[in-house]
This record gives sequence, C-alpha cells and structure tokens, in this order.
Amino acid sequence: MNQEAIYSIVIPAFNEEIIINETYVKLKKIMDSLNEEYELVFINDGSIDNTSSILKEICNKDKHVRLLDFSRNFGHQIAISAGIDHATGKAVVIIDADLQDPPEVIPQMIKKWKEGYEVIYGKRSKRKGETIFKKITAYLFYRLLKYLTNYEIPADTGDFRLIDYKVCNALRSISEKSRFMRGIISWIGFKQTFIEYVREERKAGESKYPLRKMIHFALDGITSFSYRPLRLATYIGLFLSAGAFLYFFYAVYQYFFNVRTVQGWTSTIAATVLFNGIILVMLGIIGEYVGRIYEETKDRPLYILREKVGFKE
Ligand code: UDP
Ligand code: MG
Repeated sequence: MNQEAIYSIVIPAFNEEIIINETYVKLKKIMDSLNEEYELVFINDGSIDNTSSILKEICNKDKHVRLLDFSRNFGHQIAISAGIDHATGKAVVIIDADLQDPPEVIPQMIKKWKEGYEVIYGKRSKRKGETIFKKITAYLFYRLLKYLTNYEIPADTGDFRLIDYKVCNALRSISEKSRFMRGIISWIGFKQTFIEYVREERKAGESKYPLRKMIHFALDGITSFSYRPLRLATYIGLFLSAGAFLYFFYAVYQYFFNVRTVQGWTSTIAATVLFNGIILVMLGIIGEYVGRIYEETKDRPLYILREKVGFKE
C-alpha cells in the first residue's frame, strides 16, 4: 500500500483464536466495500493461544493488515492505546475482536465523520447474550460514574467508536497508566455524537473480563475521574466524630451525675467494630488513590512490543 490509510481500524485481541479470522473477514469485506484506503491494526495482547500466529499469517497475505504483538498481557485499555499510537488513519475506529460490536455500524460512523463530527461513539441500546449480573452491574456502574464525576461520560457506551486523528494526537500526548479510555476521550472534548446499536452476543469464545478485571476496570474509571469518594470519606468521618463527641459528653455527665454508670459491654463492642470497619474502608479508599499515584510515578513504558508486523518503516 503506497497511500496513507484514511481509516485505521484498531482491534485488541486476547485469546481470540476461534473468532479472529472471522472478524478479519467481516471487517475486510466492509472496508473493501467503501473503496477508500484503510488499514486493520490488530493488537495481540499477550494471548497464550494461536491468536498471534493466525494474525501473522493474515498480515503476510494482506497488505492492509498490521499486527502489534505485546510481550505479555497488558490489558484491553492499553492494547487500544497501542493501536491508536500506531494508527496512521485520518479517522480511527476502535472495535472489539469478538464481533459484539457490529462492523456494519462502521460505515454509519464514517458518514457522521464526513459530516464533521470528531468523535462518534456507539451507544448500546440493547445488550444481547450477556448475563443479568453483567447487565445490572454495568447499568449501576455508569450511573454511579455519572454521579461521581463532573465530566460528561456517556452512559452505556463501550470503546466501540470512531475518533478523528486530532483526537488521536491528543490521546498520544496523555501518558496516564491507569487508562479508562472512554472517559479520557470524553474528557478530551471535540465535536461528539453517537450512534445507537444493538450489542450482539459474543460470537465465539468467552468474555475476557472476569469479575476481578471488571472491578479493577470500574475502580480505574472512578478514581481517574473523581476524587469525590475521598471527600465522601471526609464527610463521613466528620459526621461520626460529631456523634462521638456528643456521646463523650453524655458519658461524662453520666459518670458525675448518675449513680448508675455505664455497664455496657455490647455498646463498647458495637461502637468499636463499627468505627473500625468504617476507618478501614476509608483507608482502603485512600489506598486506591495512593496506589495509583505510585503507578503513575513509575516511569515505565505503557506496553512492550515483541514485534510489529506489516508496518512500513
Ligand atoms: N481484551 C484484550 N485484553 C484483555 C482482555 C480483553 O485485548 O486483557 C480484548 C478482547 O479480546 C476483546 C475486547 O478486549 O476484543 C473486549 O473483551 P471481552 O469481549 O472479553 O469483554 P466483554 O465484551 O465481555 O466486556
Ligand atoms: Mg466482548
């Protein structure tokens, strides 16, 4: 390919050997039909199956395809960042490798981009084939996030979106380690709009987001966009101290003016357990932030590449 790509499609993949070829074929078909230059940038996020060798084979026979091969699993959000770092398109589309985000929506996004929008995100009007648990937690998470942050992070969106190269340049200048991409892209601004789509079920394989990763992801989202939890800890602390202060006077009063002083073992234990619990939770909240400060101060690169395939030097 001699010409620079107009469109770059960024596809992070972690252990997706059973679906990755189908994803490639679908994306290729849609992008070919547009008759404009494009590139497909796959990121192999340290898969331990054959994802990498399948992608290399595809690279070797199709000049539109590139591969960033990570040295290990760095995580979905970092894989997306690597794709954006290396994309050359005037517009970049981020899409999952499991065909949950329908590639058919891409031409609609491109149409909006041509109308002058700089970020076109996919909004899930419906989620198919996901567990009730995932649906409920996702629903609650986006509402909580909205309550906690001052930025307009749109609810019920994923990372499936088209972004203009200007937005990519802005993203490249952001060096944060804990990355909540959908939030960062909202934070960047520019002219944004959305397209509603039905989130399909995963075509094959299983979710690479177990509960542990989901919680981590949610905490990243909240802590990188809000310090309201810290403030909440302060308020609760003040409120409880006020209560304790009043109780102190009550106890002293009892001691001096009442014959029958405090007998309570129960009340002591209850207060101790309650207050210690609350203090530990508050320390935990502070710890979440301190841990992230620690992460940010380490000057390590965001990801490490084993190799790049299909890129022009
Ligand atoms: N993914 C990744 N690294 C990870 C986990 C996931 O690159 O550590 C990719 C995965 O291959 C898929 C996308 O991120 O293309 C979304 O993951 P998944 O479909 O498992 O998440 P879900 O749709 O269940 O939220
Ligand atoms: Mg998925």
